[in-house]
Amino acid sequence: MVTRIKSKPEDGAQGGRSLIEQKFERLGLLVPQDFVLHLPLRYEDETAIVPIGHLRGGMSAQIEGEVIEAEVKFSPRRQLTATIRDDSGELALRWLTFYPSQQQQMKPGRRWRIRGEVRSGYLGLEIIHPKVTVPSSPLPAALTPVYPTTDGLSQPSLRKAIALAIAQTSLEDTLPQALIQKLSLMPFDEAIRTLHSPTPEMDAEALMEHTHPAWLRIKFDELLAQQLSLAAARDARRAKRSRSLPLNSSSESLCNRLLRALPFTLTASQSNVVREISADLARDFPMYRLLQGDVGSGKTIVAAMAALQAIEAGVQVAIMAPTEILAQQHYQKMQSWCEPLDIGICWLTGSITPRARKRALEDISSGQARLIIGTQALIQDTVEFENLGLVIVDEQHRFGVGQRLSLSRKGEPGAGVSLHDMKVPDWVPHQLTMSATPIPRTLAMTFYADLEVSSIEGLPPGRTPVLTKLVSNTRREEIISHIAQSAVNGQQTYWVCPLVEESEALELQTAVDTHQALSAALPELRIGLVHGRLSNADKSAVMQDFRAGLIQVLVATTVIEVGVDVPNASLMVIEHAERFGLAQLHQLRGRVGRGSASSVCVLMFQNPLSLIARQRLRAMYETQDGFEIAQRDLDLRGPGEMLGSKQSGITLLRFADLAQDSALVRAARETATELRQHAPEIVQRHLARWMRGREDFLRS
Ligand code: ADP
Ligand code: MG
Repeated sequence: MVTRIKSKPEDGAQGGRSLIEQKFERLGLLVPQDFVLHLPLRYEDETAIVPIGHLRGGMSAQIEGEVIEAEVKFSPRRQLTATIRDDSGELALRWLTFYPSQQQQMKPGRRWRIRGEVRSGYLGLEIIHPKVTVPSSPLPAALTPVYPTTDGLSQPSLRKAIALAIAQTSLEDTLPQALIQKLSLMPFDEAIRTLHSPTPEMDAEALMEHTHPAWLRIKFDELLAQQLSLAAARDARRAKRSRSLPLNSSSESLCNRLLRALPFTLTASQSNVVREISADLARDFPMYRLLQGDVGSGKTIVAAMAALQAIEAGVQVAIMAPTEILAQQHYQKMQSWCEPLDIGICWLTGSITPRARKRALEDISSGQARLIIGTQALIQDTVEFENLGLVIVDEQHRFGVGQRLSLSRKGEPGAGVSLHDMKVPDWVPHQLTMSATPIPRTLAMTFYADLEVSSIEGLPPGRTPVLTKLVSNTRREEIISHIAQSAVNGQQTYWVCPLVEESEALELQTAVDTHQALSAALPELRIGLVHGRLSNADKSAVMQDFRAGLIQVLVATTVIEVGVDVPNASLMVIEHAERFGLAQLHQLRGRVGRGSASSVCVLMFQNPLSLIARQRLRAMYETQDGFEIAQRDLDLRGPGEMLGSKQSGITLLRFADLAQDSALVRAARETATELRQHAPEIVQRHLARWMRGREDFLRS
């Protein structure tokens, strides 16, 4: 005999939560307030019946008519098709998978109300997988909201839960009446009710386009909350203490000795940013400054000047680069600059031998090493600094936010600070990040509002602009003979292999194949190959040979994307340029045009091009200005991808659109400043509504 015991009272319940609650939770809907702010993704217009004769491909429409025929076809696979007719014409319906009940519905002679996306198919207009309802129900008078949802959670259940939440929650305004009037905002409760349940007289188009005053109010509130929390983060940072690292202005200071040894003089713009950074370093709260300057604008020497000021003031400096090649290049450059100045410099990456690593770690913790250069390996827990005072992060957009943070914590108490520093136990290092991908203005005002920004304008003198050519990959032969020609003239070429996002192995294979093919086609030239899987030593050997001119053509994957500096290389070929992002293409192109020879960048593409790929290539053709390219990148991709939010964990704005709402951003910024000065209780109230469960905002 088997006795069955009912294990749970409620079918499918888990940890006391019902199935539907689990689904709500998946959408981040926990308390009534979350439901109130769960706003429609879009609206459907079910208020009118469109005559079939008025339908056009691409429309989303609702019609009503009679089934005149239906059949199950096997061409090429089993599908249900039906034809429906009204006074003005006929329309085809099609189901690629279907239930017997759906087949039953389509009996000739029956009338239905049909909704869906109209497309032009082989046999005229059709709707695939239409929504079918009985025609007798009255038409809704207003737009129907459609909410973001998750598997198995229907729109009606969401609607019901939201209506309930609205009834239970206070929709009291967080902002004072005077402010609402001054900014001509819609009151919060009216905005919420409007968005969840529009009435017939409301401007349907404005609702759908997110330009309705109700949307503007919500977007303003969201942006205001973001500004307020960023300002709070800034205050928190200012409350921390850093070592003051004032500049030594004697003519024999490290900085001045370096300047005298350089083969060039700094441009006015470089000198400016050096001064800005220098002033920050002298302060006793942490610098948090972004140095932006286009590829090739000369950021490295600015970083070196900052490093020397800090080292002379008695602290260690760490420089972190996103790739081994780049870290190595920095190391070599810094070494050539620092060695004559008698500064201990050390190098640490993930791939050095255990013995070398042990030595490096010892030098870092004893303070023997004053300047430490490396990759992500620098932020591992085992690295203990004697007294880290400045962290420089190159090409910051390649690192996630979390990574940057953990390095800046190195100087904090309990994170490897030696006895030496215990007299000032709570200081954090200054931080300088560098990027060739400038931040468009709207992003600078929002996500990076916490950051001071220095910009190097223009390039050092003596550069000739890079000529960009868009060439179909059917003309590969021509390009190869062009390479041979320029090699005769002593010029060198980068050949960048296509990006294969799905598979690193495939990407590698392509690089190896390309190397072989080019070697066969150009037997008189030396062709090198560099990719991410090479050992560190092999990689640097190839780069050395290329730099020394022993190799004429360097076949590479995108490992060379950032920062590599070989002035004699004047031709770059990028295969399948249509697969790369705009910022990436700009970075790649920045590898040429560094010497005095005129340079060419060939963007090889394969037809047919998607619309977005075409726009990207056009942008590359039309401009070389990194700021312009960053703005277009933002327009094409939106801020989410741009910020690399996936790995950084930055919470993105849900409603405001930075590309479109810059006027609202400005208004929110001004309001935030005012409220923080005059009405802290309003700040609290507003953040409580908008930042629930989103404390991570404060950390970005
Ligand atoms: P990026 O800003 O892309 O990191 P780099 O710092 O690598 O650029 O500089 C690019 C090249 O320009 C280097 O070879 C560097 O030595 C050179 N350079 C930097 N500043 C000047 C200057 N003021 N005059 C001439 N050449 C410069
Ligand atoms: Mg650089």
